[in-house]
Amino acid sequence: MVTQYKNLINGELIENGEWLDVVNPANEEVIGQVPACGAAELDQAVSAARAAFKSWKKTPIEERRAAIMAISGAIKENADELFRLLTSEQGKPHQQAKGEIYGAAAISAAQSTLELEDEINEDSDERLSRTRRVPVGVVGGIVPWNFPVMMAIQKIVPAMLAGCTIVLKTSPFTPLATLRIAELIADKVPAGVVNIITGDDALGPMITQHADIDKITFTGSTATGKKIMEGASADLKRITLELGGNDASIVMPDADPKKVAEQLFWSSFQNAGQVCIAAKRIYIHEDIYDELSAAIAEYASQVTVGDGAQQGTGVGPIQNKKQFDRVVELIEDAKDKGYNFLVGGETDPSGSGYYVPITILDNPPEDARIVAEEQFGPVMPLMKFSTEEEAIERANNSEYGLAGAVWTADTEKGVEIAEQLETGTVWINEFMHLSPFAPFGGHKQSGFGAEYGKEGLKEFTYPQVITVKKDNVVA
Ligand code: NAD
Repeated sequence: MVTQYKNLINGELIENGEWLDVVNPANEEVIGQVPACGAAELDQAVSAARAAFKSWKKTPIEERRAAIMAISGAIKENADELFRLLTSEQGKPHQQAKGEIYGAAAISAAQSTLELEDEINEDSDERLSRTRRVPVGVVGGIVPWNFPVMMAIQKIVPAMLAGCTIVLKTSPFTPLATLRIAELIADKVPAGVVNIITGDDALGPMITQHADIDKITFTGSTATGKKIMEGASADLKRITLELGGNDASIVMPDADPKKVAEQLFWSSFQNAGQVCIAAKRIYIHEDIYDELSAAIAEYASQVTVGDGAQQGTGVGPIQNKKQFDRVVELIEDAKDKGYNFLVGGETDPSGSGYYVPITILDNPPEDARIVAEEQFGPVMPLMKFSTEEEAIERANNSEYGLAGAVWTADTEKGVEIAEQLETGTVWINEFMHLSPFAPFGGHKQSGFGAEYGKEGLKEFTYPQVITVKKDNVVA
């Protein structure tokens, strides 16, 4: 019998007798079961969170920080078990799963140090006015399947620090490591402060529309983000949306192909390309296009696609069948249109496991689906550009605005280009680096609000202005 994992509601580990199967994308075998929760369990979790909010919001911040550190410690102490479990449900190679688990522990610890000080608006002879931040209340968290543990922690930790309580729903595809963490922290956090539940896609809209939830923090696709915004409008819930991206990298002619090829490869192919901030379009200056594309192709030929639990695997399977079908469809479309492939392109949906070969396209047109859409898979289009203005215009030609990168020996020029890109984050000569102290959020249809840093923390609070008239006319 496969292991059954329980939900965390009001400090108790619960099940309801109905189960959802969880599949290993490397071989399509069922590796665990989780409760198929519905409205009844959601109501229990929300009631528990509401009851806990009364005391948690008044709990001294040092105690809240200590509870977060206990979560961080539990993740770190059990990292070995957790990263293996994460690979088995998500597919990413062990090394990358380790990075996610230790990263989640480190981010929790770092974020626990954030402060939201009161701000003085006026301190005159007449009055003292200050803004304090008060917690919004009960938070509903909804996360995707590409970084299930990191995303869960990214929502739980700032909610707790701000004084909110939370009901978090995992993705039905990747609930196991998060539920194992729920088990590990059940006695480390006051009952009801953190509730973690599982269910199928019907559970998400129930959270969005639940009358006793005050805020939704969501990471996932832009299409679902729009539904969430609509659902949350009924009672004007606060929302934070971290959505899709079609991030562009611009490689300037002074970049050394030998030095950037490997980094550019991993900026696209980490987690089999299933990263919101992966480079999904790479624009290379025509002077170095041939040399750099050959160097990337040469590097790609040394990377193994396979089961993430096997030593030596660099790129694992796609996480689920629906996403696998979508990526295969994009590759087939590129073949039908007659685009050139530098690497890969052969797909075989008949085997076991959702494997897509590393695929690199050679200068497809700007309106190719693989360029215009978010592929979220191990398929990278390389495109040639002639002028800086053209590269910036093409990079900005997207409904998305999550992140981007500029690669150049001239960092001042890099900053000048970065400032013209319409995205929430731009890296110069690196990729995917997120700081727990810097706001991360999308422009345009990549999101609403931000996570991380003080700005991210503020999203779990309301501003409250207290004004005291100094010449007390009442006394
Ligand atoms: P998804 O939108 O399909 O699902 C995300 C979560 O929402 C899941 O838990 C799902 O069960 C739930 N859900 C589905 N329909 C819902 C509804 N109508 N109401 C409420 N909840 C609902 O996304 P996915 O396929 O799991 O993840 C991939 C997408 O996530 C990509 O577009 C990627 O770019 C994006 N993403 C963004 C970030 C970021 O920080 N910006 C990070 C990771 C992933």
